[in-house]
Amino acid sequence: MQRAVIETYGCTLNHADSDMIEGILKRSEVRVSREGSTEDAKPDYVIVNTCTVKKPTEQRIIDRLEKLRGKGSSIIVTGCMASANPERIKEALPEASIISISNIPTELPKVLEGGQARDSIAYRKVDRAKLIYNPKEVIARIPVSDGCLSSCSFCETKFARGPLNSFSEELILKAVSNAVSNGSKEIELASQDTGAYGADRRTDIADLVSKALSIDGNFRIRIGMLNPEHLHKYFDRLIECYKSDKVYKFLHLPVQSGSDSVLKEMRRNYSAEEFRSYVNEARSKIPGMSISTDMIVGYPTETEEDFLESISLLKETRPAVTNVSKFWERPNASAKRSGRLSNQIIKRRTIEMARLAKSIQYEDLSLAIGTTEKICITEKNSKSYVGRDSFYRNIAVDSAEDLGTDITVRITGNSSVCLMAERIA
Ligand code: SF4
Repeated sequence: MQRAVIETYGCTLNHADSDMIEGILKRSEVRVSREGSTEDAKPDYVIVNTCTVKKPTEQRIIDRLEKLRGKGSSIIVTGCMASANPERIKEALPEASIISISNIPTELPKVLEGGQARDSIAYRKVDRAKLIYNPKEVIARIPVSDGCLSSCSFCETKFARGPLNSFSEELILKAVSNAVSNGSKEIELASQDTGAYGADRRTDIADLVSKALSIDGNFRIRIGMLNPEHLHKYFDRLIECYKSDKVYKFLHLPVQSGSDSVLKEMRRNYSAEEFRSYVNEARSKIPGMSISTDMIVGYPTETEEDFLESISLLKETRPAVTNVSKFWERPNASAKRSGRLSNQIIKRRTIEMARLAKSIQYEDLSLAIGTTEKICITEKNSKSYVGRDSFYRNIAVDSAEDLGTDITVRITGNSSVCLMAERIA
């Protein structure tokens, strides 16, 4: 039996794509391991599913590819870097076959049938919902679309994933239903911009989620990140969905900056005030709603005043999670033509904002100490079992549990990213 290893970098959508690749391999009776070591196993195939969002991640991938040289496995490189920057891959590993994710469904089976692996990078619009595969785990990752409607000036992913391609609502719902009947308790709807879902199919994310709520079973849906630009089209209906026990009270709105002039430069089509009002409205209608956001620090045109506007937006909205990233020039993204702030300024601002985000998260999580929560155990890490409560908070329990089990815990402590708890029922 042939063996393959899938190595995945990047976001939930990339991991969902690796699930799809696992499904294709298994249908060809190839034994699959995920993130396994290649040294000792010497697999027949190594499939590297790449990400291109940040420079350091890209460099890590290049280092990995160089290490795979001459190892005797057939190397297939896919994912965002395969479409946005294939030349760099070829430089690092000339023997690799570069296949864009939209071509994997047609090209990979050919390779597995003994065909010559060849580069296949051209963009193709494919409804990949028919290929959704869930390896019967507690967490099911369901891709709902590829690409997006925006053209953010800092973004490289746009050049990898192309225009919005929403997958069929019917097939997505079928995949959710299959995952639930296979025992999945957490359904992650994934995409570059879940907020744009359906704009090319006369539907939207609120419509999709409201239909998923009629699926029988004990599960919760995590709605992926939503560019605030599209919320006005369905916000009220989306909030109705959040009222269901089948949806985590977790709203991921990447704001990126608190300054309207920087947002304009970034080509983000909303204002800081709009973000503020969505957060306030969501919290007033869903008490305790966990708000998650992303901030880019050190954008080329960001002044000290702009930066302070981002800081005060965080202080005011107190997100449960803030993913702070420093600005990275990307090969195809237009922001690289806007000059660059000094590394010193970028570093100082990034440290300052990361420190603030951490203290907000720590203070807010500490308010939960002594409360009791119903959680579902969804992961096991090296130290403990981890569950999620209805606000999608990370809760580590010190007792051994079965994945997928619902238990009641008392919160005993916290860090800036996690609550600690003891089981009480
Ligand atoms: S919404 Fe913007 S940041 Fe997100 S994938 Fe599209 S262009 Fe990139």
